[in-house]
Amino acid sequence: MKFDLLHPREQLVQIMNRIYRYGLTTTSGGNLSILDENGDLWITPSAVDKGDLKQRDIMCVKPDKRIIGPHQPSSECPFHQMIYEKRPDVRAIVHAHSPALVSFSIARRIPDTRIIPQAHHVCGQVGYAPYALPGSPPLGENIAQTFAQGFDVVLLENHGVVTAGPDLLTAFQRLETLDFCACTQIRACSLGPVHTLTDEQIARFEDYRSTLPTFQPRRHSSRERELRQQICRMVHRAYEQRLMTSTEGTASARVNAEEFLITPYGVDRKYLEIEDIVLVKNGHTEQGKRPSRAVELHQVIYADHPDVNCIITAQSPNTMAYAVTGQPLDSKTIPESYVVLRNVPLVPHGQQYDAPEQISAAISKNSPAVLIQNDTVLTTGTSVHQAFDRLEVADFTALSLLNTLPIGPLVPIGEAEGQQLEEKFG
Ligand SMILES: [Zn+2]
Repeated sequence: MKFDLLHPREQLVQIMNRIYRYGLTTTSGGNLSILDENGDLWITPSAVDKGDLKQRDIMCVKPDKRIIGPHQPSSECPFHQMIYEKRPDVRAIVHAHSPALVSFSIARRIPDTRIIPQAHHVCGQVGYAPYALPGSPPLGENIAQTFAQGFDVVLLENHGVVTAGPDLLTAFQRLETLDFCACTQIRACSLGPVHTLTDEQIARFEDYRSTLPTFQPRRHSSRERELRQQICRMVHRAYEQRLMTSTEGTASARVNAEEFLITPYGVDRKYLEIEDIVLVKNGHTEQGKRPSRAVELHQVIYADHPDVNCIITAQSPNTMAYAVTGQPLDSKTIPESYVVLRNVPLVPHGQQYDAPEQISAAISKNSPAVLIQNDTVLTTGTSVHQAFDRLEVADFTALSLLNTLPIGPLVPIGEAEGQQLEEKFG
């Protein structure tokens, strides 16, 4: 979907719905705006229920300061205007008070985007604006000054966060990705020290390009069409279940011995459509489309494991807490977790580019899911459903383990009981 072809009113309503629905703001907090090419500022209203915003509620501030619409513009309109003045490249702004980002804001700490390369790619470095009274000129000055230094994401002291971008979807994705970093870091801190990526590791990700040649498919089999739909449904569900974010998460499925399908690079996971998915045949990718950066890793796994028909690489804050600390994710919690996940090995960061065959070698019947340090949780399955189930069970298991920390130590299922499960469930 070409999101930026929607009218600013519709874009603001859709993104406010996403922000509210995913718990990134309360009904009274948060505001969004778009500056269009006429210089009209479209902005969410003040004192209107954010959970039930309609297109007719959106306010417009004209370049001559005339206000059009049935309400008052957001009380934070002045800081939006000051950011647009300082940063002519910015055409959309998002402000919210998500609980995880507020935690950082009130501890006066900046969330680290270097926990996974994609988050750093989306958000960059995070700026910090000192406290000032909401709606006041000093607050606007503090925020706009920080954006003027080149940051696209600014944490507001004892308040929340502001993100900006060339369009509203980008600004929203920066908010959601930063919130993911904050959630992951909060969970990870209770496990141990959090590893962050070096400049070299970040550069390795930025420079990495798939070098696979392209081809023009002549036909699309019924099997392929069916899998396109299954992948789309699964990605939408993973997004709704917060197992993927708008900017992170890849899924692929084997069509036959020569072909597999994989999700594209850079498409918002909520808006993924069947035609976006990329066909890969004998090491060639469908012309005119850009596959996920994980395409070569998925290709190696399909070649090595004829029984694997679906692979998911995703990030969810609970599982990623283990991938960024290197702490073991012990699935011997309840029978379901052990039967579905068995052992979950951790493989070093960087192998996804330089040694995909080593990640593939870590996958077996006894370890159908692996964690790639500071990158992803990778699950495999004989079907799309099974790989998705493993992703969901991994996240539930990680959450249960994290929730156990304040209650008391994990008492895992014993060796003998584990063996019984292996005998019964294979
Ligand atoms: Zn606010």
